[in-house]
Amino acid sequence: MKTNNLMQTYFKMMKEEDDLLFEKTHGAMEILKKEFSDFCGCPYCGSLNKQQHSSQFCIGKRLPYFECRECGLVYPYPRLTMEKLHERINSPSKNFFYSRIYRRGILTNHEPISQNRSLSMKAAEIFDYEVNLLKSFKKNGQILEVGCADGYFLKKLEKAGFMVKGIEPNEILYSYACKSMMLDVACGTFEAQRLKPEFFDIVIFRDTFYHLFDPRRALEKTHQILKDGGIILIKTFNIGSFSIQNFPEASQGINPLDVPINGSLATYKRMIEAWGFKVMRICFLKENLTNYLRRKDILQASDEMIPLKLIYAALDYCFWLYLRALKKTRNIIIIAKKI
Ligand SMILES: [Zn+2]
Repeated sequence: MKTNNLMQTYFKMMKEEDDLLFEKTHGAMEILKKEFSDFCGCPYCGSLNKQQHSSQFCIGKRLPYFECRECGLVYPYPRLTMEKLHERINSPSKNFFYSRIYRRGILTNHEPISQNRSLSMKAAEIFDYEVNLLKSFKKNGQILEVGCADGYFLKKLEKAGFMVKGIEPNEILYSYACKSMMLDVACGTFEAQRLKPEFFDIVIFRDTFYHLFDPRRALEKTHQILKDGGIILIKTFNIGSFSIQNFPEASQGINPLDVPINGSLATYKRMIEAWGFKVMRICFLKENLTNYLRRKDILQASDEMIPLKLIYAALDYCFWLYLRALKKTRNIIIIAKKI
């Protein structure tokens, strides 16, 4: 089967799974079934004082996002219960994706096919960039990656001289990371792991922090397992970004069922610093304006012509400089130190 057909099968499976979680009300509106709903309020501070979030992508979805008036966290209400959230990590659709699509990419060119082509930096370049970034803080030591997927990034860190360990809750990715990548990986959620206190020099959450059910507990646990002066790296998307606010395409991949936590840069910063960390650096990752405009048919889809290619590249670069100045890129990396 071609990748496009595989993707269609995957989207169909995913939609069917999502549909089973909802029921129709008398007004024909769909709501999350009670047995899968958690009504506890803000996942970070527990407050029920909230307002609907203003992002385009949040409006009109059957599980809308709200913004906590107390701490600024953005979360769906109600959200999935912890049991259901964790169960979905190994759902048939995700396992189909990881075994038939994602891994196929890794096996052919050793580069995850999941890489987001809409980013101007390709996945491999981002990996190298992040390895160098970590190296500028710690030259060596023990690293833990929470949600290490296929282990590709950990392997890079191992080659760069670190001792590495991963945690991965998806069984297919876990077994790939262990058997094919020969890495020390534990299968399960971060919450369920028993980890040595003050053992790690670096703890990494790359696109995984927003999947956590309890960010508070996760930050507390991270603080406990880090040595003094240890580093936490969180790579995540910034809900206050220009793109998420203005281009619905930029919110692709943010499914409120699997993403119970969203935040703007300011919210993340506040949250991390409240748990005994000091933010050391924030990186604003590149993104392409031309990709968004192409999807809206404002720009030509093909940029084979060299002059056009150069103009588009210049446009993307200026867009990124502008977003960086505003601190509003879609993807950010926050590095903080345990104090
Ligand atoms: Zn809150």
